[in-house]
Amino acid sequence: MKVLVINCGSSSLKYQLIDSETEEVVAKGNCERIGIDGRLTHTPAGKEKVVIESPMPDHNAAVHMVLSILTDPEHGVIGSLDEIGAVGHRVVHGGEKFSSSVLLNDEVIAEIEECNHLAPLHNPANVTGIQACMELMPGKPMAAVFDTAFHQTLPKEAFLYGVPIEYYEKYGFRRYGFHGTSHSYVSKRAAEFLGKDPADLKIIVCHLGNGSSICAVSGGRSVDTSMGLTPLAGLPMGTRSGDIDPSFFEFIAEKEQLDLKGIMNILNKKSGVLGLSGGISSDFRDLRAAADEGDEKAKTALDVFCYQVAKVVGSYAAVMDGVDAICFTAGIGENTPLIREKILSHLDFLGIDLDREVNDSTHGTEARISKPGSRVEALVIPTNEELMICRETAALIEGC
Ligand code: ADP
Repeated sequence: MKVLVINCGSSSLKYQLIDSETEEVVAKGNCERIGIDGRLTHTPAGKEKVVIESPMPDHNAAVHMVLSILTDPEHGVIGSLDEIGAVGHRVVHGGEKFSSSVLLNDEVIAEIEECNHLAPLHNPANVTGIQACMELMPGKPMAAVFDTAFHQTLPKEAFLYGVPIEYYEKYGFRRYGFHGTSHSYVSKRAAEFLGKDPADLKIIVCHLGNGSSICAVSGGRSVDTSMGLTPLAGLPMGTRSGDIDPSFFEFIAEKEQLDLKGIMNILNKKSGVLGLSGGISSDFRDLRAAADEGDEKAKTALDVFCYQVAKVVGSYAAVMDGVDAICFTAGIGENTPLIREKILSHLDFLGIDLDREVNDSTHGTEARISKPGSRVEALVIPTNEELMICRETAALIEGC
């Protein structure tokens, strides 16, 4: 079956058409600047990439363009929309309602909308994408795959914050965690790579990209993760602060005369390694280049990031009473040997014997970067959230 995977943001829509049997990507692309002007970049397998600039006033228009290009005689990959067996939608927040992927219907959409207050920037866009697809492909089976679902196995001691319990009871204020599709995919793949049953493994997945999070996976279940109520929590990221002393709000409001909105903007858009480096960049490639040229702030930003990652990894080894494998994934985790080495240099006590040669030559490919016999394995496992969404969607349809 061909599954159309949709990841809808507020002004963008990424898609992949994947054959669920062969797991090959038949076509992929991206609509950008929806509601502004509109640009579609479409890459069909085995054909030339095309870029089309065309007005996309809303998500309906974007989905319409995607469906047209998929069936286009020149750039398309399918004869008609009948060849699409199902659509899988990425949904950011499923709250406590969704602990696994689900088939979509009006009732489920209403339940997703009830989670909108937990992710006001993301969930409404996801729902808009779902509704646009339903309108343009009526009757097509569709599924929602949630970023939060994998973490619904967290025990209370890991998900509750030390604030009055009524905020959890009344408003669902708790740690939810994100990147669940990636953590789930990578931890499963790591078990396969090691030739072991996930049930017998304690794995720590470091998803290090523009947004970064770490997950402790024990026996195949997420038992702790670094993001929280929102994806602002945990590690310092490209532009997000990660965890800070909550007194920051009062302190900086007074010093800089900022209101809540202004402070949230700083924490989301001007912090992380961008802020730490004095504004050089949120991109690790730029920071590494600046650090190589001797920029102290860029170097410090990278040091803080690596230190914080190591600190969380160490704490998750404690949480699980041991660890068998540490996995690196996403843009930074897959492509930056220096960052992996710096992180692992803080973790000697765990017994990871890094193979520097293999680490240095691993960019975006699956590899064991620890030496044979290392007490704890270190792995690079490229993530593939779209494939995971395709698998989940196909499994739900086939299970009907
Ligand atoms: P997102 O969270 O937006 O999906 P990514 O997983 O693509 O982000 O990660 C973006 C980060 O990964 C950037 O800081 C970038 O520097 C780094 N990165 C991505 N690709 C590469 C690469 N090929 N080489 C080095 N760094 C990379």
